[in-house]
Amino acid sequence: MPDGQASITKPSVCPLDCPDTCSLDVTVDDGKVAAVRGSTANPLTEGVVCNKVSRYYPHFVHGEGRLTHPMKRVGKRGEDRFERITWDEALDLVHDGLSKAIAGHGPQSVVPLAYAGPHGMLAGGSMDFRFFHKLGATLLDRGPMCGGVKSEAFVSVYGAMPGTPPEQGVDAELIIVWSNNVTVSNLHFIRTINRAKAAGAKIVVVDPKRIKAAEQADMHVAIRPGTDVVLAYALAAELERTGAFDQAFIDRWAHGADAFMDAARTWTVERAAEVCGVPQEQIHTLAAWYADASPALIGIGNGLERNQNGGNSVRAITALPVLCGKWGVRGGGVIAKVGAAVPKTMAKLQRTDLIPEGTRRMNIMDVPANMLRDDMDTPVAAVFVYNHNPIAVFPDQAKTVAAFSREDIFVVGCDVQMTDSMRYVDVILPACTHFEHADLFPAYGQTYLQRADAVIPPVGEALPNTEIFRRLAARFGFDDPCFKASDAELMDDAVDGGDPRLGGVRPSALPTDRALNMTADGQAEIVPFATVFPKTASGKAELASDWMAEARGFRVPAYRPVESGFPLALITPSSADRTNATFGGHAASDGVQPLEINPEDAAARNIEEGDVVRVHNELGETRLRATLTDAVRPGTVFSAKGTWMRTSETGLTVNALMPIHKADLCEGACFNDARVEVSKA
Ligand code: SF4
Repeated sequence: MPDGQASITKPSVCPLDCPDTCSLDVTVDDGKVAAVRGSTANPLTEGVVCNKVSRYYPHFVHGEGRLTHPMKRVGKRGEDRFERITWDEALDLVHDGLSKAIAGHGPQSVVPLAYAGPHGMLAGGSMDFRFFHKLGATLLDRGPMCGGVKSEAFVSVYGAMPGTPPEQGVDAELIIVWSNNVTVSNLHFIRTINRAKAAGAKIVVVDPKRIKAAEQADMHVAIRPGTDVVLAYALAAELERTGAFDQAFIDRWAHGADAFMDAARTWTVERAAEVCGVPQEQIHTLAAWYADASPALIGIGNGLERNQNGGNSVRAITALPVLCGKWGVRGGGVIAKVGAAVPKTMAKLQRTDLIPEGTRRMNIMDVPANMLRDDMDTPVAAVFVYNHNPIAVFPDQAKTVAAFSREDIFVVGCDVQMTDSMRYVDVILPACTHFEHADLFPAYGQTYLQRADAVIPPVGEALPNTEIFRRLAARFGFDDPCFKASDAELMDDAVDGGDPRLGGVRPSALPTDRALNMTADGQAEIVPFATVFPKTASGKAELASDWMAEARGFRVPAYRPVESGFPLALITPSSADRTNATFGGHAASDGVQPLEINPEDAAARNIEEGDVVRVHNELGETRLRATLTDAVRPGTVFSAKGTWMRTSETGLTVNALMPIHKADLCEGACFNDARVEVSKA
């Protein structure tokens, strides 16, 4: 838009790593994003957005941290000394660096290190995948970072069946909010909860912290972190004992219920209460409420998966509606994998046929450790960081910093902002925000598909990810037509345009002023076990799973306590100021960050409100400011994730305290298995 043009409002969609995927109205002034508000294009998000997006996005796009031109490193890694270069020079440097790695160690020595900065299908994984597939680079398993554990667990029970759409919660008589800080990380679900409550529904929150939703709930189960599988098993056993099982539903739809219940019955209410640290009475009451309610809905969050029992916890929780026949009615069941309703065509979009046979896969969580290894047959010789701020989000942060400090590994960085990670790379490629290019937006927390056009031109010399990888493909001489595909063509490759729910409209032509609801076949509403059904080998809900036994060693869910010499469980949930580490560069995230600690634990350590404290374990140390509150249970401390290194005088954040062991499923990250000590600084 030319300078001087009057203020105009344009439709867009929030691309952040959040289940809600709000539709947006963006006010553009003189070609700049001046304001971001919610729009009603998406009926689920209803014109409401979170504060961080409305407050921080304009600064994210146009503020001092924005990367606006390519740069090359001229100082030591982490020193933050860079020199401006042209795009041609930058692409030459990337070509040279990757080519040297390939010449020395083969194409698999190149590791793309990307996560979910933007969730648009084009920016999130389209031309970039085509490029790395053709290059023969190592394939990255991203799921273990977040979402993969929960997803694998749900799929192990139900296959690729979408769970209950969240808006159906208005019909529920009981909603169990299980490990989901809804007011911070699933904003629109709290609106559904409030409506259900106003209509008479009971609300139960299972969470180690008395989160906002718990303050208004009928019951708060302040569970000990990592013991959710035990609570779910005890509930199953108690529901069976009290005659709440729906035997007809079990006979028709459950596979392996006997094996599951054999394990569940070992968890009496007494024993579970001890392990979970909750009153026995709460387990009895919760079982009774669940038995009586229909529809009864369970909304599980991602916090649940971030421990070594995370996958089995999700399996055990999602078994409850099968045992009690809570599926098959609108508003009953479990909210999970709702995005499975969108007919994505990922193989076509990402051209998986280009992957050379036998290409290795690497768990994203292993990349820093592998960068430090000198004994691999194919070492990591080049890393391409994009859509990701690994130094701010990986566990064992000191190790991640050490990995990125290696001068002998060539590192490319592609980002919107000058993040902690970008300070360690050799070449910086400035990427566009999603406001500067068109994209398609499915969601992982709801059933709507949305499209957005650019609302402003690229800032400075920034380019969309698709164009960056198009140019890189050309620089490497990849001349297959798929590397010249336009963004519109990529959109048409991303979603099945022949799906009747698109009504004959090409994905790239979907209107931007409305959201398309992905209904079940025949335009019926998605109601699991009524209009959509399990897609497992048995066609049933698999409460015991042979393939899970083979793949992960757990035919039925199991509980493994965390062993540590450090006394306090450190939980690092989402922040109201950041989405993961996005917006961590904003002034709102400056300064020493709070650590919430129970007054009992604080008194035992002579810690008073406002004290700066050392939070430490065998992996490292960070500094936080103590906030005394009985909202956290004794033995557990809280500090929000996603802060950047400048917030702590040790140069390390809470991520420095997180262990690198893996979850029970998906080899996922165990951020919430951190055990620490806290002492006065
Ligand atoms: S972060 Fe989530 S709640 Fe906030 S605007 Fe984006 S999608 Fe909506």
